[in-house]
Amino acid sequence: MAIFFSTMIIFIDNMMKVSEDWSDTKKDLILSEFRASHDLMTGVWNKTYGLKNIKDYIENMSDDEMAVLGFVDIDDFKAVNDTFGHEVGDFWICEIAKTLEAICASEDIVCRYGGDEFVIFMKNMKDSDELASRIEQFQNIIHKNANERQQDVHCSMGLYQIIGAGHSLDECIKKADELVYEAKEKGKNTYIIG
Ligand code: GH3
Ligand code: MG
Repeated sequence: MAIFFSTMIIFIDNMMKVSEDWSDTKKDLILSEFRASHDLMTGVWNKTYGLKNIKDYIENMSDDEMAVLGFVDIDDFKAVNDTFGHEVGDFWICEIAKTLEAICASEDIVCRYGGDEFVIFMKNMKDSDELASRIEQFQNIIHKNANERQQDVHCSMGLYQIIGAGHSLDECIKKADELVYEAKEKGKNTYIIG
């Protein structure tokens, strides 16, 4: 009987070790997948994976669906870095990412396109009023935060509404890029819906 119990204890102990090793391996795998697909500074999707997810979605959209692809670019960000320092610049990149995630639904995509530029992809958008209201919510949060810190930080945004099937990622990126350029030309700190 004593031999039986000690064998059982060794067996259970070994099983627990195997399970710990397995869960460590699983954790490592999840972590390395996250590192490969996300921007490590902000935690949002990186450009490669973000765009891949957006492309897959656009190519499978149905005729009665509407989605939005938006470019968000921090205005005069070089001056923000020059005036307040690079660490403050980093803080704002993270704040912008966090606030974009806050106005997006959990199934939407926020991606760091590079430097001070983000791409957002909002699925199941009802109409341009809903879009404008969510973008103004973003602006209000950033303006309040910037006022409190007495740092002049804001963004220009170009928001392209994708209606129905038959669109391509390249076409949507080109349109959203033109719209953000228009917002910059209009004096920055604004958004254009097209
Ligand atoms: P515009 O209003 O036309 O967008 O002007 P801008 O100054 O924002 O544009 P520009 O592209 O000249 O500058 C972007 C700056 O963003 C330059 C670069 O040093 C800075 N930047 C890029 N990545 C990072 C980063 O990860 N952290 C910080 N702090 N700055 C960054
Ligand atoms: Mg900029």
